[in-house]
Formats: sequence, structure tokens, C-alpha cells
Amino acid sequence: MVNKQDDQLAISLQELQVEDLPAGEVLIRVHYSGVNYKDALACRLDGGIVRSYPHIPGIDLAGEVCTSADARFHPGQKVIVTGFGLGVSHFGGFSAMARVPADWVVPLPAGLEPREAMAIGTAGLTAAISIERMEHNGLHPAQGPVLVTGATGGVGSVAVALLAARGYEVAASTGKAEEHDYLRALGARDIVGRLSAAAAGAVVPAKPLEKQQWAGAVDPVGGSGLAFLLASIRYGGSVAVSGLTGGGTVPTTVHPFILRGVNLLGIDSVQYPIERRSALWERMAAELKSDGQLERIGSRTIRLQDVPHAAEEILAGRVRGRIVVEL
Ligand code: NAP
Repeated sequence: MVNKQDDQLAISLQELQVEDLPAGEVLIRVHYSGVNYKDALACRLDGGIVRSYPHIPGIDLAGEVCTSADARFHPGQKVIVTGFGLGVSHFGGFSAMARVPADWVVPLPAGLEPREAMAIGTAGLTAAISIERMEHNGLHPAQGPVLVTGATGGVGSVAVALLAARGYEVAASTGKAEEHDYLRALGARDIVGRLSAAAAGAVVPAKPLEKQQWAGAVDPVGGSGLAFLLASIRYGGSVAVSGLTGGGTVPTTVHPFILRGVNLLGIDSVQYPIERRSALWERMAAELKSDGQLERIGSRTIRLQDVPHAAEEILAGRVRGRIVVEL
């Protein structure tokens, strides 16, 4: 539980009663959660994530239904909850029990274990939505290479794995020289450095158009690298932007949009419609489990008391793949 005391953030393990949980139709025994970038921010006073204190963070959970006042769910059923208010305005997944609105709950796909679901987590769902949006905008493997930025992170790793599983030629952008073999094992054919670093001097101020390189890009990094990316996308291609680990300011021009018809696609996993989530989870389960990609993405399991340390590692950009929390 995070609490604000004398302008300091106190993080502690607390014992609560079920009655202390927020309202909702479905009471869930949480088996696993995951630590995302947003959860790491929730562990900081200046993170700008938590709406009110005291609060239980954790934007992801997978577990088993204990009771449900909604006929769509029954006791014993394995389920996933990600996004909406979970871990932000509503007590989240870093908790042995959680009570949530039924409209936030997705049945766990057959063949996927709760731990595996959290090894995918919100990061994976975001990667899947990014690819879905690009494909709806015409992307297909024959069009050429697709770049993934922040490639060793949660969104990035799953995006590399999913794109490779779908037959795309994947290029990975990473700042971690020691992780090239990891990215190649996930299916990246080409590896480039961080675009923000590569772009220093090249895009600030942005060069309106660069050499056309990629048919599409999954970008959880943003910042000045996104300006470089937009200028380097092939005619009619798309960039799916989901994050800002590289910064929130993008020094771009209109030229990629008006001269090359480039699409800038905004990706939000939080309010993504519940009725479309099951299909994405089913597809991720099938594609990531069929040839061992999920194991290759790699996830380490930690205990609840280790979350603050994991949050620091995430904010320092030192994490590879996913961190799963066992409750
Ligand atoms: P993560 O696991 O911490 O990965 C972020 C990656 O970004 C790092 O592994 C690193 O990859 C790269 N990076 C870190 N610092 C950087 C810097 N200063 N400049 C450039 N690259 C840097 O985080 P995540 O869970 O993948 O989330 C990534 C971003 O997406 C966050 O901003 C998060 O809030 C956002 N997000 C948004 C949604 C949504 O619904 N829109 C959902 C999930 C996440 P390399 O070392 O490989 O370069």
C-alpha cells in the first residue's frame, strides 16, 4: 500500500479485510500481478499516477474468481484484469484479493496460466493493440521491416516477439548493447541504437524527411526519437505510439504526414474496449506460446515486498522483459 505522509511516500505491506476493498461485482483471489512502468511511477510521490491515498497500485492482475454478482463469471474461473481504473483510481493487483467491476474482467484464454498472462500483462496487450492498429491501417509483412523501440522493455519485447511470430521482418531499437542476442532470439533481424541518441543533432531541430526505412513502428519511447521515426517511415506507413520513456515532447514537422501519408496512431490500452480484449488475449496466447516465444521474452518472479526495488530498476531503464509479482 502506498500512502502520503508529511509530503513523503510511505510504501508498506498492510493487512486489510475484504470489506476494505472498493466496490465491484467480482471478488478475485489474485495469483499474479506484474510491474509496469506505470506501477513504477505509482511508487513515486511525483509519479502523477495515483489519484488518492492510501492506495494499492498494480495495473495488472490474474487470478481466480471467488464470488461474482455478475452472471458472466463464476467462482473458480480464471480471469485477467488490466487497465481501466485498476491500480490508479481503484485498488490494484498488488494485493491478495481484489474486487472490481465485472466490465473490467476478461476470461483467461484456454492454455494460458495466470503467471503466463502476467508475463504478457498490460505491456503485451499494448504491443498487441499497436500491431492490430497498424494492420488495420494496411500493414502486412510484405511491406518491409517494422521497427520496435524500447525493444528490451515490456511493450518492446512482446512487440518484437509478436511481429516475428506473424512473419514480419523486425528491427529492434535498444540502448542495451548487451541484449542484442536476446533480441535476436526473439526474432529481431536488425538491431539499431536508441533513436533519441542516434537523433541527437539529426532531428533537433527535426530534419523534415529522412531516408525511408521502415514500413511501420511500435513506439513506446516517444520523445525526439519519434520525430526521427516519423521522418523515416516509408510512404503510407504507420507509427503506433504508446509511451514516453524517451520524453513527452516530439519536435516534428507536418512533412511526413502531408508528403508521405504517414499515420501516427495513438495507442491506449487503459480504455481499450472490453469486448475486443478477449480476442487479443486469445491471439497473444496462441502466437506467443506456439513456439516458445513467451519463455524467450523472459520474466522474473518477485515477491510483493520486492516491488519497490523493481520499480526503481524500471525507472532507471535497467529491466529486460517483464517482472511478475507472485501474491
Ligand atoms: P519498460 O519495461 O520499463 O521498458 C521501457 C524501455 O524504454 C526500456 O527497457 C528501454 O529500452 C527504453 N528506455 C528507457 N529509458 C529510455 C530513454 N531515456 N530513452 C529511450 N528509451 C528508453 O516499460 P514498458 O512497460 O514497456 O512501457 C514503456 C512505455 O509505454 C511507458 O512510457 C509506459 O507508460 C507506456 N505504456 C503505455 C501504455 C498505453 O496504454 N498507452 C501501456 C503500457 C505502457 P531499451 O533499453 O531496449 O532501449
